[in-house]
Amino acid sequence: MDELIQLTNKLQTVLASISSYESLDLPQIVVVGSQSSGKSSVLETIVQRDFLPRGSGIVTRRPLILQLITQRQPDALEYGEFMHARDKKFYDFDEIRQEIERETSRLAGSNKGISRTPIQLRIYSPKVLTLTLVDLPGLTKIPIGDQPQDIEKQIRSLIMDFVSNPNSIILAVSPANMDVANSDSLKLARQVDPEGKRTIGVLTKLDLMDAGTNALDVLMGRSYPLKLGFVGVVNRSQQDILTNKPMSDALQAETEFFRQHPAYRNISNRCGTKFLSKQLNHILYTRIKEKLPELRTKLSSLVSQTQQELNQYGDPAFTTGAVHRGSLILKLLTKFANDFVAAIDGTSSEMSTKELCGGARIYFIFNNVFGSALDAIEPCANLTNNDIRTAIRNSTGPRPSLFVPELAFDLLVRPQIKLLETPSLRCVELVYEELMKICHSSDNKELMRYPRLHTKLVEVVSELLRERLSPTSNYVESLISIERAYINTNHPDFLGAAGAMANLENESKKKKKMERRKHVRTASPASSVISAGSRADEDGHPMPNGIHALKENGIGSHNQGHPDGKESFLTYFFGGANKNERPALGPQDMASNPSFSSPMSVTSMMENELERKFEQQASLNVPSEEQLQASDREEIEIQLIRTLITSYFNIVRKNIQDLVPKAIMHLLVNHSRESVQNRLVASLYKEDIFNDMLQEDENVAAEREKCKTMLDVYKQAFEIVNNAL
Ligand code: GDP
Repeated sequence: MDELIQLTNKLQTVLASISSYESLDLPQIVVVGSQSSGKSSVLETIVQRDFLPRGSGIVTRRPLILQLITQRQPDALEYGEFMHARDKKFYDFDEIRQEIERETSRLAGSNKGISRTPIQLRIYSPKVLTLTLVDLPGLTKIPIGDQPQDIEKQIRSLIMDFVSNPNSIILAVSPANMDVANSDSLKLARQVDPEGKRTIGVLTKLDLMDAGTNALDVLMGRSYPLKLGFVGVVNRSQQDILTNKPMSDALQAETEFFRQHPAYRNISNRCGTKFLSKQLNHILYTRIKEKLPELRTKLSSLVSQTQQELNQYGDPAFTTGAVHRGSLILKLLTKFANDFVAAIDGTSSEMSTKELCGGARIYFIFNNVFGSALDAIEPCANLTNNDIRTAIRNSTGPRPSLFVPELAFDLLVRPQIKLLETPSLRCVELVYEELMKICHSSDNKELMRYPRLHTKLVEVVSELLRERLSPTSNYVESLISIERAYINTNHPDFLGAAGAMANLENESKKKKKMERRKHVRTASPASSVISAGSRADEDGHPMPNGIHALKENGIGSHNQGHPDGKESFLTYFFGGANKNERPALGPQDMASNPSFSSPMSVTSMMENELERKFEQQASLNVPSEEQLQASDREEIEIQLIRTLITSYFNIVRKNIQDLVPKAIMHLLVNHSRESVQNRLVASLYKEDIFNDMLQEDENVAAEREKCKTMLDVYKQAFEIVNNAL
């Protein structure tokens, strides 16, 4: 019987030391009672020693897990042992009391506050029955001194934590000189154990009941239903404590009290502290026995789990054999290389579910980070109209404005392509960083045993990655340079001059329509005269609109001649070198152009004159007709060049978006992925450094020892549980 309870104690201690105290949910007896109900007295009588702090107010301010362990030799010395100071045996029970007070203040402060962290105390004695009891703060109502206002709530919730565990047996202490129906501890127990299945009642102070009254009905289970029943006890009175009445005398007196008492005489063998101890021991034993099958299952899974964990730490003996060292290194570096590859391929078993990693992260960099960085670039970013104008003028050189737009386009589009370089190189860096992260984040337990080997492995792979970084960056840089080397205006997706013109024309038409509507609505009397006059003229628009001028002067016919629009931009735009064949760009050219002068009647010319004057008045800041026309033409050219740059830039952007990830995969990712294993073997499989690399980490050695101890305890516990079943 004791063996089983001791095993439970042992498990509790081991689990506590590895901070998984409740993982086995072992049965325990939890003592609850209101202040001054006699809780401490009951515990002390059970232990047969004075050892609990005394005083007014709340004395118990941390849970006390009290493990009583029977010593077989009747003359063995009694002593206590705290789990927080296991190297010391306390033979003096006054010192135990002081240590409890010290430990309480250490965590709960000296200000009467409480703490949830238990103090664990073991008492070895031939006078105790093996038992585990948890002493909790007494139920209190009114805060005193500088206690926090919600002290009652705090204590209640702490008690609740313990008693609501279905594996707790509740020892509900109530003084007999009070009605049990009003007992705080029983009320609380009823909340978590309404059927009274795991609550045992203890009636204290039976000696203090009014003369002529007794608690027989309660003790016989007639007035309050509890399956585990009530046990009556008589503890030492305040007077007894003051006069230091020995425990043995008190116990003797208690036995006498029940034997002599007219009401309890007949049930005296079921009363008193001794009986209570036996009863508790029995209840605990029964409970533990009930739990055994479940415990066995749990222990067996703990054994295999711990065994597995231990395996991960590896066998320390393994490193001593010379032949073994080589194969261990080989095994570890192969594992490291495989983990690296698996993280890239996304086949790793220990993938994070919190964040993208490895291959998925690389994919994300390509598709989201890099993709949106490229998309964010404006094809004509940083290109002002002035820049374009200057480019046009510069590329004209000494010639007339013959080759202007094509040369200017060529000149202007190159720096725009260069804008793709920064995000492309950044993409290489990001992937490189991700690969670095993968190689640093290995969490292979066995490898952790050998920090030096681990450092070396990381070093070698980092070096391999570093080596691949510049070829990859250089290649990506070249990709951009290649794009800049030759501007292929014959690219099938390039909008070309025809497309650009058509675009411009459409836009201009729309704009003009809108403007005209606006113009009519806000028209002055002069302008209505003009529009009324121009209605008579069938030939239409004398407005100095460059596009129309261009169009009507032969661009249209060229367009018909080359409907595919793939004609060289240059020839297309100006037709040829002969000035007469070139499209006129303003109304002043119209007069000199025979195709235009003939259908123009005198009246319409007069109207033109009128209209021009009006225009001049309307826009006073337009300095002169020539300038107006020149800037008009430039305006179109600027627009045209912008459209062309955008079209061409989009083609290049698409290429880069496609090629950069491919280059990175080939030159950086796949290359490192494929050569990692060979590189590791070549750099690290050297006998003269085996010893150094296999220096074991101290912490790991300690962890393994702890793990081994745990495994032993679990195995031993499993054996005992198995045999007991
Ligand atoms: P706790 O606050 O619940 O731990 O109560 P204590 O054990 O400190 O007891 C409070 C007071 O009641 C102390 O002075 C005890 O001596 C006294 N007391 C406890 N049990 C008995 C009992 O059965 N008979 C007598 N006469 N006094 C008792």
